[in-house]
Amino acid sequence: MPDTYISNDIFNKTKYDLKTILVEQLGNKSFRADQIWTWLYKTNIRRFADMSNLTLKLRHNIKDHLKLSLPQITNELVSIDGTRKWLLQFADGSHAETVYIPEYGSTGHRGTVCVSSQVGCTLTCRFCHTGTQRLVRNLTAGEIIQQVLLVKDRINDWDENQRLVTNIVFMGMGEPLLNYDAVRQSVLTLLDKSGLTLGKRRITISTSGIVPRILDCAEDLGVRLAISLHGVTNEQRDYLVPINKKYPLNELIQACREYADLTRGERITFEYVMLKSINDSPEDAKRLLTLIKGIPAKINLIPFNPWPGTIFQTSDLADIRKFADIIENAGYVSPVRTPRGQDIMAACGQLKSSSVRENKCLAGT
Ligand code: SF4
Repeated sequence: MPDTYISNDIFNKTKYDLKTILVEQLGNKSFRADQIWTWLYKTNIRRFADMSNLTLKLRHNIKDHLKLSLPQITNELVSIDGTRKWLLQFADGSHAETVYIPEYGSTGHRGTVCVSSQVGCTLTCRFCHTGTQRLVRNLTAGEIIQQVLLVKDRINDWDENQRLVTNIVFMGMGEPLLNYDAVRQSVLTLLDKSGLTLGKRRITISTSGIVPRILDCAEDLGVRLAISLHGVTNEQRDYLVPINKKYPLNELIQACREYADLTRGERITFEYVMLKSINDSPEDAKRLLTLIKGIPAKINLIPFNPWPGTIFQTSDLADIRKFADIIENAGYVSPVRTPRGQDIMAACGQLKSSSVRENKCLAGT
């Protein structure tokens, strides 16, 4: 990807960067950066020409210094349950997927945007469709933010009093903690009080277990942490989540304990995909309890969402229920997740952009 593409993208700029450019390169006062920031993150205005409180000269000149655009939508699918999925094409032609999941419960509306942090993934978690797509590249902080803005534009979520997007989860394509600098910057932009104003407890970073970065997350961001656990012994996890060979269970669990301490007891979510006859026995549930003892935790049980070519099957409902009962009887919250957007391949572990396959077709290989 050309360096100019990254350096010109306005969504890659912190507010401090923007002020520096406005003052040093465009000879304006720094308050202009605050005005532009408000247009970017509190409205759906996507052209400098429409930022009506800027001088005409600035609206014209800024285009030579900064690029303002969102990725192109290559495909948009809407599930029967209201989940929406977009295949996005970034400026260099790379593709990634973003999902919006609306939920209407007794406590009101909640809308979650699931963002991708990489195009493809270097990790090869066996139950995950994305893991079958090689890594093309990391997404930039700007490209992560653009996914959120694009969703807000598409669902017209610009009424501050009636927010549709309430939560962000880094659970799309890629391992966020292997693209830490960009993820960190994008989270700081999401949290910014004069912009998107999302609370720390509304943002979740999900990792398959990049241990050294887990504590960075606690210290730098303090957002919610989710661990893609999926196995309760090193043998199970080495098979299902091969990064476990590098960062084994004892190191991962120790990092979780320290995360909880650093965030003053913030509850950690353990994601556990239920795979028939692989990790779904009552003994596995008991081992899970021993493993996480003392950690403030919630355990999400995810019935496996099949994808073409997978060797796994979803656990029987009775086995999932038995597993959940053991966890719940020990005092933990352990919801069995209802798959969302399964009909459009938008559920957990089903994302895979078509760029690699399309490119292969074009190359004739
Ligand atoms: S589960 Fe996450 S880390 Fe593992 S292969 Fe899939 S996208 Fe990559």
